[in-house]
Formats: sequence, C-alpha cells, structure tokens
Amino acid sequence: MITLNGIGASPGTAEGALFCYHRQEYAGPPRPVGSPDQELERFRAALRQADAQLRQLFRDTVSDADESVAQVFEIHRMMLEDQDYLEKVERLITQSGKGVEAAVEEAARIFSETFLAMDSAYMQARSADVLDVSTRLLHILRGEEEKPLTLPFPVILAADDLRPSETVQLDKKKLIAIVTAEGSRNSHTAILAKTMGIPAVVQLGDVVTPEMDGKHAAVDGSAGTLWVEPTDAICQLVREKTMDLEERRQQLLQYKGRPSVTRDGVSVRLLANVGSLEDCEAAVENDAEGVGLFRTEFQYLSASTCPGEEELFRMYRSALEKLGGRTVVFRTLDIGADKSAPYFGLPEEENPAMGMRAVRLCLTRRELLRTQLRALYRASAFGKMQIMIPMIASVWEMQEVRKTAQSVKRELAAEGAACADSVPLGAMIETPAAAILSGELAKEADFFSIGTNDLTQYTLAADRQNGDIHLFYDARHPAVLRLIRMTAENAAKAGIPVCVCGDLAADLTMTDFFLSLGVDSLSVPPSMVLPLRERVRLMTVGGGLPAQEKGEGDA
Ligand code: PEP
Ligand code: MG
Repeated sequence: MITLNGIGASPGTAEGALFCYHRQEYAGPPRPVGSPDQELERFRAALRQADAQLRQLFRDTVSDADESVAQVFEIHRMMLEDQDYLEKVERLITQSGKGVEAAVEEAARIFSETFLAMDSAYMQARSADVLDVSTRLLHILRGEEEKPLTLPFPVILAADDLRPSETVQLDKKKLIAIVTAEGSRNSHTAILAKTMGIPAVVQLGDVVTPEMDGKHAAVDGSAGTLWVEPTDAICQLVREKTMDLEERRQQLLQYKGRPSVTRDGVSVRLLANVGSLEDCEAAVENDAEGVGLFRTEFQYLSASTCPGEEELFRMYRSALEKLGGRTVVFRTLDIGADKSAPYFGLPEEENPAMGMRAVRLCLTRRELLRTQLRALYRASAFGKMQIMIPMIASVWEMQEVRKTAQSVKRELAAEGAACADSVPLGAMIETPAAAILSGELAKEADFFSIGTNDLTQYTLAADRQNGDIHLFYDARHPAVLRLIRMTAENAAKAGIPVCVCGDLAADLTMTDFFLSLGVDSLSVPPSMVLPLRERVRLMTVGGGLPAQEKGEGDA
C-alpha cells in the first residue's frame, strides 16, 4: 500500500480503480507566421468559434447538470471578452510580430501568473480558467479536435491537473473521485467537485505515476489522502466512513423545512454566508432562512476592471430572485487587506489590515460607495434587502454612510427608479471600538452583525492570515466573548436585531452562548445550516455563562 497526502478539496470518501489521465501535448509542425492583419483575422475567427463552442457547452451542460456547474462556460466566455486579455494578444501580434498561437500562449502565461501572484486564494484559482480558455483557442487555431475526456467505467480520476471545462464535461456516473498533482482548494475544479458531491484531493505532487493506472485505490477528500492498493483494514475504514457520511447526510435532511427553535422555545434565524450566485443556490438548497452576509467584494475581485452599476445591479437582483422572498443582507465593499484587485491601485501599506480597507476606502473614494449603493437600492425593488457596512470603528462613519445612502435614494427617486420603501442599514461589529461603542452605534444602525473573524484579529492583535500564530488567534478568547456580550446587550437595550456572521457562528459548541445572549440570527456557510438547525432543535438554552466566558484571564 502507498499512502499519499495532498490537500482535501472536496469532502467525502470513495474506493475504486485509478484512471491516470495524461493530456496529449501538441506535437504538430509550427505554422509559418503571416502578416499582422492575417494573424489578427485568425485570432478573431478563433474567438468567434470559441464563443460558439462555449455557448453550446453551456446549453448542453445546463440541461443535464445544475446551472452552477454550467456557469464555468459562461465565465470562460466572459474571459474571452476581457479587454485586457484581447489587447494583450493583439499587441503581441502587432507590436512584437508574434504569430497568433505564440501570442495566445504568451498572454495566457502572463495572465495566469498575474492571477497566481494575487493575495486572494479565489483569484489565484482563476489562473486555471485563463489557461483553460486559452487552450481552447489554441485547439481551434491548430485545427485539433477537442476530444472530451471519456472514462471507461466508474473510476478515481488521477491527473496532473484538470481544466475546469474538462471537469464539467466528465460523465458523473463514471466519476468516483478526483485526485490531482496540482490544483488548489479554491480552483473551479474543486468548487465543481464540491457542487457535484464528489470527493477530491489536490496538490498530491508528482506521485501518481502511469504504473498506478488501473490499481485499486481509496480516497478521503476531507483528510486529503489517497491510498494506492490499500490494505483491507483501510478499505474497511473508508467504507465505514462512507456509510457514516451518507447516513449523516440523510439524517440532516429531516431538518429541512423545520423551525429553528430550541426545546424550550427559543427561536433563532439560521442564515447563510455567500459570495456568489452559486452560493445563493447552495443557501436555498440547504434551507437557509435567508442570507446573513453577502460578501459583495468577490464580484469585484473576479473582474479585471471595476464593475459598473449595471453589472452590480444584475448580480444583486439575481441574488434576491434566487432567494425567492427571503432576506438578503448585502455587505458593502470590503476591499483591502487580504482582498484587493489591481485596478483599485491601492498603494502598498505596512499594515494593510489596519489600513485603507472596507468603509474607509468607500468614504475616501465616495464614488465607489455611491455606485454600489445605487445598484443595491435599484435591486431592492426585486426582493427583501438589507445593507450592512464593514469595519465600522466610529459613529461618524455610520452617519456619513447614511448621508450618502440618503442622497443616493433621493437621486434615484428623482430619476423615477423603483426602490423598496425600507432597506435597513446595519453596522458590522468587527472592531473592538465598534463593540465598545455599540450603545452609541445602535442609535445610528438598524441592526448589528458581529464579524467574529476580524473582531478576534483586532481584539487580540493576532493576524488572521498568519497560520504560525493560530494558537494566539482564538475566537473564543474571553476578551472577544465579552465584546460580543456587550454588543448583544446594547442591541437589546436599543431594540435592534443582532446577528453573528463570523466563523464562530458555525462553531456548534458556541450555539448555547449565542442563544443565551439572545442573538436573533446566526449566519454560517450553507453546508452548516442543517447541522446548526439540528443543534438548535436538540438543545435547551441553559442559564449561566458558558465555560469559555467564565475562564476570563485564561489564555
Ligand atoms: C468577519 O470578520 O467575521 C466577517 C464575517 O467578515 P470577513 O470574514 O469577510 O472579513
Ligand atoms: Mg470582517
């Protein structure tokens, strides 16, 4: 038996034969380079053909898979319309005298390296998409027929890496699991594997060799492990885990459509944290009672230029429509620190987490905020919306945002645009200052939402990005819990609702604490909604303090 460890990218376990896939690289003769006009014409023709292929693939996939899986082809089509990408290829042809194939290869390399160098793991993962769509162009230019990857029978597919379009086109009935030498946890392949419910392990390195083809193997997508020729004991363990997981999944389904109420009658709303339209679908699928945190910055992060009002409006309207009448809390742009895009042109900072981020950027570049608020208020006519502001540290920041919001609403009314009558405006409590001032802030905010991730980082002066200090980054630290309590008490005094939307909300050992504080809602990743509802329905809200808060002074 060989045990190989990588990174778990999609949970679940599986057992079956390994199918090692090696993509054929182009080995044909180089083509003579024509004049720049001829090369440009070939480029445009290839773009048209790629666009038609991607539209067809979208239609085919959407009819036999769910829409979020097919979306990858839409994203690729958008990439082919990206002005920066097109200009890069055209310049390489006209100014550097390259043939179109070489120009596409070079542009693909530059763009994929740019994505890989970005801070956000999500953006890094887009590198695979730009390579994928460029490969499509190259196939067309070289007249190669693109053969979909066909699987002989149900297998564990092993590859160096899979292009997202390859993953989407795989016959799911013949796919037990995916293991790759490269790839990342945030790649589209990983996202698609999760959506399809197929276990996946990435970054195994160059260890799956062609000699392993056809060998029996087992995969644990949570632990990130692949066993080749596993022992009987490992097979038994994997089978037991598979059965447990399936049993657990089935068991949780009983909580769909049931109220989130404790045995002693305390209700709490269980909402979902989302960052995309796919996540909104997952929220509905997992029976979330609404969206408690829509991280709107992801739309900005995945664009190569700053999205305009129309694009934002379309996204917000679709999200509200997908949630079908359930409330969606949109958080305004939280750019800065670990989340940045080159077009913002943010200067390098010594301490980005304490710098020009979130509401600070929006108040400094007021047009950013105005555009986003215009899109949000216009979309508010299509569902139940709330808006919340990240990184509030002072009362005046909330007052300034409200002034801008009012001016935007007046402007839209003068234009005759339809907007909802009331869109509550809330403050995120994720700095110690906001928690300490929550009594005053409650007069300016229609609701609070506690962001425990940043609240922990700023309270404990412990960088949330730095894995080396994870021992010191403790969201259950008594100081953090005391700030949460203070916020909940001030919200109750002022009669405004309070939600917890940071990662701590999904910690089932903390549900008792949050409910005893009287929080109105908990917002968690979609997959945590049903486990949390189970926890709530089986508990009684006990009196007394949870152990963590009592442990004041303990590390
Ligand atoms: C938080 O800080 O807890 C939060 C929910 O916001 P984010 O994780 O997006 O910073
Ligand atoms: Mg935050």
